[in-house]
Amino acid sequence: MTFNQLNLIEPILKALEKEGYTQPTPIQEQSIPLILQRKDLLGCAQTGTGKTAAFAIPILQLLRNEQTTERGPKGIKALILTPTRELAIQIEESFTAYGRFTGLRHLVIFGGVSQHAQTAALQRGVDILVATPGRLLDLMNQGFINLNSIKLFVLDEADRMLDMGFVHDVKKVIAKLPVKRQTLFFSATMPPEITDLANTILVNPAKVEV
Ligand code: AMP
Repeated sequence: MTFNQLNLIEPILKALEKEGYTQPTPIQEQSIPLILQRKDLLGCAQTGTGKTAAFAIPILQLLRNEQTTERGPKGIKALILTPTRELAIQIEESFTAYGRFTGLRHLVIFGGVSQHAQTAALQRGVDILVATPGRLLDLMNQGFINLNSIKLFVLDEADRMLDMGFVHDVKKVIAKLPVKRQTLFFSATMPPEITDLANTILVNPAKVEV
């Protein structure tokens, strides 16, 4: 299997070539077609499996195709929620790498640093937002972020969100998302609380396990 067989658009294939990627990993091979079909996804995968590209590549493609077919209202189109600053930075780097020829704008926000650069970038406009829960809620409460135009929502490392005590914050964010959206849910393990959360936020999900 090659990336060419996954029906990816040229700007993304070109970026993957530049990254030196020749073959999709198993989670990418399974997830990318399902996400492109706009299905909700429950992915059981650890870091190191290529999970970030498994959601970043199809998100870029779906948003890029939308960008060229409709001139809809501006606003954040995809939200990726992840538990730590390190993961948030890595995810944003993936969007930079795979999205370099798409023209889509992305931003990472996390706590522990001044919010000024983050709010300035938000005001210029962002298509894809990568965030940790605390800073996201903080900037939402201050009126810098509204989630009304989100079409794609990724909950990354759901089990770590639980371990780190972020589930309440995550639920607050989810309550502000449009009901009509595509949701991708990733967790390395599936304890009962995580299964319950997945059941409440996913609609008829495809399941992928690696
Ligand atoms: P992740 O599981 O998303 O943290 O990715 C693990 C590492 O694998 C990252 O450093 C990626 O750059 C790399 N990677 C992801 N997909 C591929 C691929 N298809 N081919 C080669 N390297 C990859």
